[in-house]
Amino acid sequence: MRRFFAGDIPSRPAGWPAGPAGWKEDVQCAEVRGDEFRHLKNVLRLGPGDEVTLFNGRGLEFEGKIESIGRDFARVRIERETVCRRESPINVVLLQGLVKGGKPELIVQKAVELGVNGIIFYTAERAVPKFDKERAEKKAERLMKVAIGALKQCGRAMLPEIGFRAGFNEAVGGWEDFLKIALYEGEKTRRIKDVLKAGVRKDGIVIIVGPEGGLSDAEVAEARKRGFMPVSLGPRILRAETAAIAAMGILQYELGDMG
Ligand code: SAH
Repeated sequence: MRRFFAGDIPSRPAGWPAGPAGWKEDVQCAEVRGDEFRHLKNVLRLGPGDEVTLFNGRGLEFEGKIESIGRDFARVRIERETVCRRESPINVVLLQGLVKGGKPELIVQKAVELGVNGIIFYTAERAVPKFDKERAEKKAERLMKVAIGALKQCGRAMLPEIGFRAGFNEAVGGWEDFLKIALYEGEKTRRIKDVLKAGVRKDGIVIIVGPEGGLSDAEVAEARKRGFMPVSLGPRILRAETAAIAAMGILQYELGDMG
């Protein structure tokens, strides 16, 4: 797969025609650097003349040919700009209780494949890992790499927002125009499919998933207060990561572009 992330290719200003010649002369060439460069050069062994696709992380794709390989970057001459058609038609944000070990990586990888636009991890009352600022920054950096790998693999071109919040309350505020749902294994009557039938709100869907230990009563109460509807995913208690991935699939099936 010859797709590479080159984040500094600017987005086309609104109203400008597509194609590099239509907007700015100096973006007819772009550079692939860092891990992406190493992947291009050392793993795929590409060189001058090879065709590649670049994406800028903001929804645009560029087709072109490698012009030269330098010490730490490849120069690509852009021949065509295209809008990526593999993005999710619904804006989905996951609020995920911080989980242990490599599970955040798993959740990011799968959620990106399933079209997520934002993943915000919060330290829940019953969360095992506790992150200080420095650890959160390091983790966010690693998760961004995982997200880029997933974008390359599944053909998307939009980088998700990845963030950390120190507490549950910080994560659940400010989602006024979203359809708000909270996955809660204690919910016995309201099923996710009933809520999704009501459709998406203007800004999309925001979905709370608890950590390994589940949401506390206080967190469920706070979520309700903020307008989140607790919903069940069925009779089986799923692991947090399974619940997140399953919910993303259900959303895309019911309201998005899967199935
Ligand atoms: N409290 C439980 C398990 C938590 S499961 C315990 O320790 O036994 C982790 C998270 O996955 C939950 O907070 C919830 O958000 C989600 N989840 C798992 N199974 C679910 C189900 N059947 N319905 C809705 N949410 C579920």
